[in-house]
Amino acid sequence: MMDTTDDKQAAEERKIHYNKNKGSYSRRIKRMPKAFQDRFERFRKVGGRQWRYDYEEYELYVCGEACKLLAALPTASEVARFQQSSAEEREKMVPSIGPVHSGNTIAAAIALAVCYYAEPALIPRMHGALCPLVGCEKYGCYGASDAAARERGET
Ligand SMILES: [Zn+2]
Repeated sequence: MMDTTDDKQAAEERKIHYNKNKGSYSRRIKRMPKAFQDRFERFRKVGGRQWRYDYEEYELYVCGEACKLLAALPTASEVARFQQSSAEEREKMVPSIGPVHSGNTIAAAIALAVCYYAEPALIPRMHGALCPLVGCEKYGCYGASDAAARERGET
């Protein structure tokens, strides 16, 4: 399918925006636990520059929120309690949590926090933050990789 002029312009704007902010993105990633750093390393390696332009900022927001949950909620059961709570209660439990969350961003942040407490080594293999919207293959998820297919005995 041919890109429209608007699509091309939007893609160019994402690239410029990324290049302007990539230093601060990398610094934010470096402050995260190693498992999250590994997650970004994997997505960057698989998706290259295009992944960074299209998805890194969104992924970074979600992972940053997941790290806030981990810092404020010391156990997996606290994360589960947060998940069951109202927006008002959530703000009390994690005052630093972003005020503007879509259902997708908070659900993805909670899933990452739960995973981290269960098995941090799986953080790089968890679905990308935008998978529900763009699909695993396009996002470069581990589950859509050849390595994962081999692990499942499919090849
Ligand atoms: Zn996925």
